[in-house]
Amino acid sequence: MIVKAVTLDFFRNYTHLEVSFDPGVNVIVGENAQGKTNLIEAVAYLSSASSHRARYDRELIQFGIDRAFLKAEIFSRRRDYTLEAQLTRGVRRQLWSNGVRLKSAGELSGLLTTVLFCPEDLYIIREGAAARRKFLDSCICQLRPKYAAALAEYHRLHEQKGRILRDWEEKPSLLDALDDYSLRMAQCGAVLIHYRAHFVKKLNQTAPGIHADCSGGREQLHLGYDTVSTITDPLAAPKQLLGQLLDHQERHRRAEIESHACLTGPHRDELTIEIDGNPAKAFGSQGQVRTAALSLKMAARDIFYQDTGEWPVLLLDDVLSELDHRRQEFVLNRITSGQVFITCCEEEKLARLRVGKAFRIRDGGLV
Ligand code: ATP
Ligand code: MG
Repeated sequence: MIVKAVTLDFFRNYTHLEVSFDPGVNVIVGENAQGKTNLIEAVAYLSSASSHRARYDRELIQFGIDRAFLKAEIFSRRRDYTLEAQLTRGVRRQLWSNGVRLKSAGELSGLLTTVLFCPEDLYIIREGAAARRKFLDSCICQLRPKYAAALAEYHRLHEQKGRILRDWEEKPSLLDALDDYSLRMAQCGAVLIHYRAHFVKKLNQTAPGIHADCSGGREQLHLGYDTVSTITDPLAAPKQLLGQLLDHQERHRRAEIESHACLTGPHRDELTIEIDGNPAKAFGSQGQVRTAALSLKMAARDIFYQDTGEWPVLLLDDVLSELDHRRQEFVLNRITSGQVFITCCEEEKLARLRVGKAFRIRDGGLV
């Protein structure tokens, strides 16, 4: 997948920008607060209709303006597409592909897939399990529409079951529906566990090699998948997992009612990350954590390529800080295929990179 050109109007600090990119490496250089991340964010938005750092779309619209417009000319699945997004204050965003209105963000991600690495991604390692589940979910959703559908349904059921458990004392009749919700959650949950287990297996076949190369063979990364305790083999077919999930639910039915909380199911799953046998969350150094997060993202990109035959567009925002020289070299040299965008404050750092095109950004414009 290749982003050939982008046009932005009133997006963040870009009043108007038209830019064409290299199919290989694009370096975006500039001082702090000039618009480097904003440009990366715009490309990412056109692949997912969401931003990694804005909670609401209105944050993306230029201050004092009511409407922003983004457009990308891309090459994907051996065809050209024009993707467009219009953001209007107080109105839901609108998306188009080749002039045809899209119903969901999912349709967009099928055409343009991006893998973004940014400083915030250290949270994947450092934060609670929810951050790692989110990472897994977003990777698998990009690959498997069936998973995305099961996940959305699971979230919906989880919320409703949570409401039953919370409010049953005031309204005991709510409990009549409990077993039905538990059963449907287990059916969706079995699908989630099956896909997550297979994805983590692939991740563990791919990421440790990248991490080892990056650290000069000094560190061993290991990834594992922890799910509901009654599951004996998470890689098994969903049908088989269902029985074991129901068994766990049955045993916790009473505790769920008494504690008013949903205690059983893959919403409590964990992706375990260890470096040299120790949990990275607790023991990883700053550089190790950054390397591990980067290895996970690079592995996700490799897996997507193995699966679809297309390289997702790689967006690297501020990756080089906090890495020592050898790790920086590794990052820059490992990227030998697919299109890459990389932001950086100092140009010299990129001297060794096979730069296709360099862009200097100042105050929301190209110079
Ligand atoms: P750094 O090197 O510090 O990461 P950067 O070049 O990545 O800097 P950006 O995050 O792209 O900087 O932000 C550039 C500027 O965009 C900031 O000064 C910010 O105030 C401005 N900005 C953010 N949102 C908007 C908006 N909605 N309207 C106008 N300007 C905005
Ligand atoms: Mg930035």
